[in-house]
Amino acid sequence: MSVSLDQELGNRLSIIGTAGLRRVQEAWGSPQAPLRCTPQGEYLNFSSNDYLGLANHPRVRSALSRGAARWGCGAGAAHLLGGHTTEHAELEEELAGFVGRQRALLFGSGYLANVGVIGALVERGDAIFQDRLNHASLIDGALGSRAVFKRYRHADVAQLAELLAADSARHRLVVTDGVFSMDGDVAPLEQIVTVCRQRDAWLMVDDAHGFGVLGDTGAGSVAGAGLSVNEVPVLMATLGKALGTAGAFVAGSDALIDYLIQRARTFVYSTAAPAAVAAATREALRVVQEEPQRRERLHELVRRFRAGAAQAGLPLLPSSTPIQPLLLGGVERLLAWRDALREAGILAGAIRPPTVPRGTARLRITLTAAHTAGQVDRLLETLAAIASRETTAGAQVPA
Ligand SMILES: *Cc1c(COP(=O)(O)O)cnc(C)c1O
Repeated sequence: MSVSLDQELGNRLSIIGTAGLRRVQEAWGSPQAPLRCTPQGEYLNFSSNDYLGLANHPRVRSALSRGAARWGCGAGAAHLLGGHTTEHAELEEELAGFVGRQRALLFGSGYLANVGVIGALVERGDAIFQDRLNHASLIDGALGSRAVFKRYRHADVAQLAELLAADSARHRLVVTDGVFSMDGDVAPLEQIVTVCRQRDAWLMVDDAHGFGVLGDTGAGSVAGAGLSVNEVPVLMATLGKALGTAGAFVAGSDALIDYLIQRARTFVYSTAAPAAVAAATREALRVVQEEPQRRERLHELVRRFRAGAAQAGLPLLPSSTPIQPLLLGGVERLLAWRDALREAGILAGAIRPPTVPRGTARLRITLTAAHTAGQVDRLLETLAAIASRETTAGAQVPA
C-alpha cells in the first residue's frame, strides 16, 4: 500500500526530531541589531552576520527609500531583458574598483552566484577541488556541474597538491571559502595559490565572510593576503553580510565577466534585484570606505571576546575573525548551552550536523561593530557561568 506524501514526510520529520536536529524558523519583531525583540521579550543577539552594523544604518536605510522613490520596487526582468539599470551598473563598477578588478557582475544571492559561476566554468571532463568545509552553495554548484568533484581535508594544502598531481582533467578549478563560515578561520590562500600555479589550476575564492571585514580597506581575505586577480582570478562575495543589504557579486577580468553574462544560468534566468537595493549597497560601500573605525572596533571586540573566553577556559576555535564558535561536540550538550544562554536573554546560533560534521556541534557566536564592550562582557560572564555549572554537575564532554 502506498503511503501519502504527508505520512511519509511525518515519518522523516520525526526521525529528524528524535536526533535533536529539527530546525525551526523564528520570526523576529525588530530589525537586525544587538538587541532583538520577540513576543517573549528582548534578547542580546550574537547570531548575526551584520558584521559592520550596516543592515539598519540610517544612511543605508535612507538610500534604500530614496532608491525606491526613484526606481520603484521590482526590477521587472532579468538583467539581460531590461532589469539592469544605471544604478546596478554603477554599483558593479564601484565593487570592481573596491576589490581592484576590471569588472564585477551582480547576482541575486551568494547561493545563486556560486551555483552559476561553477556551472559556467567547468563541465563534463573537467575536475573541481574543494575544501571539505566549503559552504553548501559551492558544494551544490560542483554537484550540479557534471565535473569530477574531489574534496580535500580542511585547509590541507598538501592533500590538495596530491589530488591535483594525480589528476589529468582538461580544466581544474580549485574553490575555497576565504573565511570558513562555521569555523571562522581564514583559508591558507597564499599556499593554495602556489599549488594552483604549479598545477595549472584555476582558483575561485568565496569571500562571503571576509568582504568588508578583512584587509586594510575591508576589501576582504584575498586583498588581506596581498593577492591579485592574477593569483585569484575568480572572486565572489556577498552583500547581505558585512554590507548589510542583499545579493552578491563576482569580480575578475573583463573576459570572466563577459563569459558569465553568456553562461551563468543563475544570472541569465533570474530577475535582477531591485535597483533600490543596489542604491542601498552603494551607500553601504561608501560607509565601509569612510568609516574604517567600524572594522577596527569589530576586531577590538573579537580580541576582547577571545581573551575573556580563553581565561574562562571556553572551547574556542583558532579564529581571528568575528565568527567565534565554541566547539561543544554533541548535539545534547549544544542544546543545553543554547537553552541556558537563552534563559539569560542571549542568543547564539546552534549549529548541528549536517551543517557541520558529526561530533562537532557548536555554538556559533558572531560579533559585530554594533555591539558594545559591555555586551560582550555580559556574554562572557554568562558563558563562564554555564561552563562552571557544567563542571560542577560533572557533565560528560561528548567526543
Ligand atoms: C552566506 C554564504 C553564502 C550564500 O550567500 P547568500 O547571499 O546568503 O545566498 C555563500 N557562501 C558562503 C561562504 C556564505 O557564508
